[in-house]
Amino acid sequence: MARPSPPGPPPTLRYLAEQAVGIDAECRDCWHRVVLGFEGFLARYADMPFPDFARLMKCSACSSQHVNVRPAWPSRS
Ligand SMILES: [Zn+2]
Repeated sequence: MARPSPPGPPPTLRYLAEQAVGIDAECRDCWHRVVLGFEGFLARYADMPFPDFARLMKCSACSSQHVNVRPAWPSRS
């Protein structure tokens, strides 16, 4: 079953792709928000720690690099 992320090394993109449904990215400058699928990124970034990957993200609306990036967890409603 799914466990919370362990302390220590940050999870890689591949690890998160098994648990989360997508990548939730929200721009802190224009508040444009998208949920991206993992599939477009795994080929290149599967072994990259998520915090490093998050730093690569850019807002598709205003090109700001101030983007809050977090895994989008499955909803359990
Ligand atoms: Zn933006």
